[in-house]
Amino acid sequence: MIERIYNFSAGPAILPEQVLQKAQSELLSFEGTGMSIMEVSHRSSYFEKVLEGAENGLREILNVPGNYKVLFLQGGATLQFSMVPMNFLGDGRSADYVVTGAWGEKAVKEAGRYGTANTIYSSAESGFRSIPSRDELSFSSDAEYVHYTSNETIDGVEFRYDLEAGGMPVVCDASSNILSKPIDVEKYALIYAGAQKNIGPSGVTVVIIRDDLLERAATDLPPLLDYRKIAENRSMLNTPNTWGIYLIGLVCEWLKSQGGLEVMAEKNETKAKLLYDAIDTSDGFYTSHAEREARSLMNVTFRLPTEELEKEFCLEATSLGMDGLKGHRSVGGIRASIYNAFPKEGVERLIEFMKDFAERNG
Ligand code: PMP
Repeated sequence: MIERIYNFSAGPAILPEQVLQKAQSELLSFEGTGMSIMEVSHRSSYFEKVLEGAENGLREILNVPGNYKVLFLQGGATLQFSMVPMNFLGDGRSADYVVTGAWGEKAVKEAGRYGTANTIYSSAESGFRSIPSRDELSFSSDAEYVHYTSNETIDGVEFRYDLEAGGMPVVCDASSNILSKPIDVEKYALIYAGAQKNIGPSGVTVVIIRDDLLERAATDLPPLLDYRKIAENRSMLNTPNTWGIYLIGLVCEWLKSQGGLEVMAEKNETKAKLLYDAIDTSDGFYTSHAEREARSLMNVTFRLPTEELEKEFCLEATSLGMDGLKGHRSVGGIRASIYNAFPKEGVERLIEFMKDFAERNG
């Protein structure tokens, strides 16, 4: 029997076992073709069906209205940091950026290359531990859009509400919490997410864009950076990541079989609560990085009394079959990423280990 471990990695991250098994069962011959999906032409009717399945799967699960396009791109979420301003900014135009972590900071920096990027909120000075309340934000009247990061993967802070900006287009980097709970897509003009956390493997980025924003996109860009051209060609301007799109379709089927996003949200709440409770009841041995109201349900970040203990914690956890717990190099500490596919039993196992570790080292 193959032993699977508890993989707490932030991304690429754990995928549902059923998805991997299904992909394995079809690997040598996809639907009787005698070829794997990776070997089938992207212009074939087989792949056409796969693409449609992935798109419709996302539409159904996220309840995407008809006036939005669902696109599959490459270049990761990082390319979206550039593509968004390339398409919607330019000389004399500006956008608002809400910065609650390391990724938002990268996004605003990149936007500044194509226009004026106003940081209208930043929690950098206090170490990216908080999320603004609705009334803490006020938007520039002439901004083309407002950009925010719904979950900051490195810092472990998450918005618990869909940001609204009084009619200004809202652009959201949802890389690390998309599909973890229902969202109201209608409140957004553009949502993007690298797939490698909750949607599928790395190498494919999902973009959900509203038609009226698409119409305002720049027209002088290289085709692969031009949302309109990509949409017109149904993400097939060139060879797409066929394997990634296939897996996205399988993840959507899995999500449906689990009962959809409401069920996911409940499970994610339960898992995160167990872990935060363990931190809060450790008599200060473990300390949460994020302020209570800002705590991410996807990436639980915490510290131990010393860096030496953090190192030892990770080493021991790995030897017990729990990997990927080392915090991002920029913030240190521990980060437990507990996306949709991460089982509750794994969280319970970690908590058991945390208690034992604290007893031995507290
Ligand atoms: N935004 C967020 C919130 C992320 O978590 C990441 C990756 N961890 C990125 C952007 C960058 O994504 P990619 O590596 O796909 O370019």
